[in-house]
Amino acid sequence: MTISKELLKSITEKNRISLGDEALDRFDRYAEHLLSWNEKLNLTAITDPEEIVYKHFLDSLMPLKYEEFPEGSSLIDVGTGAGFPGLALLIARPDLKVTLLDSTQKKLTAVADIAENLGLAPNFVHARAEEAGKDPAFREQFDFATARAVSNLRDLSEYCLPFVKKGGIFLAMKGPDIKQELKDARRAIGILGGEPEKMVAYGIDDKGERHLLFIRKTGNTPDAYPRPSAKMAKKPL
Ligand code: SAM
Repeated sequence: MTISKELLKSITEKNRISLGDEALDRFDRYAEHLLSWNEKLNLTAITDPEEIVYKHFLDSLMPLKYEEFPEGSSLIDVGTGAGFPGLALLIARPDLKVTLLDSTQKKLTAVADIAENLGLAPNFVHARAEEAGKDPAFREQFDFATARAVSNLRDLSEYCLPFVKKGGIFLAMKGPDIKQELKDARRAIGILGGEPEKMVAYGIDDKGERHLLFIRKTGNTPDAYPRPSAKMAKKPL
């Protein structure tokens, strides 16, 4: 066993997140394969099994505490890296239709191998978010978009909101500076068809507060967005 399944079970239960035996077993194998891939590829700086449980697994699952994800909902995880939060959410909720997007093929190759070992089959998209967001196959096709540790909220909104259907939610997983980030991103969120709906603060470790920001897609994203990243940098929304 790589992680303590008892620890994961108790800290998720405390947060009203329920994991069955199969999910606990998959999280254990996830940690095992993550560490093994990490020897070849820089997937995560967090390698202590207990820290993996708290900082990757529990943190990735926190959206389930604060939001109801209807059965069979579609979710795209933008900049998924080693599968956080998207693959972790799929382990807890195998009924979700999860798409994992990243611009780095090597990371997707590792996550695809890990998912296969867990007997899970998310979709994989190798693309930059700002390019995939223009593709009709992905544009406004998802009930939820998630992103953790990818970019500042203003740019992240331009990456993520185009994927979300009207009525759906972009869920940004953020650190302590969320209030300032939201101030800087508020105009962009409105232009892109979103409206901040709720924000929750929670703690996982001693590194300060983490936040979940739920942004509702209330209108369609205008065709002009997302723009290429160079344009985003030159002319922030
Ligand atoms: N979400 C994961 C987590 O929380 O552990 C990974 C975070 S990692 C710091 C950021 C990831 O976002 C990297 O895997 C990177 O390749 C990806 N990324 C950054 N900008 C991106 C973009 N514009 N489109 C797609 N992926 C992007």
